[in-house]
Amino acid sequence: MEPTLFSKIIDREISADIVYEDEHVLAFNDINPQAPTHVLIIPKKPIATLNDIGESDLALVGRLTYTAAKLAKQFGFAEDGYRVVMNCNEHGGQSVYHIHMHLLGGRRMQWPPG
Ligand code: 5GP
Repeated sequence: MEPTLFSKIIDREISADIVYEDEHVLAFNDINPQAPTHVLIIPKKPIATLNDIGESDLALVGRLTYTAAKLAKQFGFAEDGYRVVMNCNEHGGQSVYHIHMHLLGGRRMQWPPG
């Protein structure tokens, strides 16, 4: 897999506003926020799309969700509510081929999404 923009952020070749990091996961502010808080939560392991998640990645993917909830509490909108989104491939609107969870909070969300 070619290094993506997000691999370069993990490797600090491209700067980002990092809000959380541990051994497995990195979270940083989206450059084009769609809500008052818009954080991208990514595994350090490069996985191109949701379709490429294997059985051995299940704990890692769980960590993305766990991190989203932890950050929502930290940012103070966990009780009001928030949205997590993972886009897959062209029709899903995926533009960076390293899986990522969008955490959007700080405003009321609309449904259905576009
Ligand atoms: P996708 O469309 O793949 O679900 O989400 C990719 C996200 O990456 C978009 O929301 C986009 O704004 C964000 N993004 C693209 N380039 C950069 C960048 O250089 N830095 C940061 N922090 N976010 C980026």
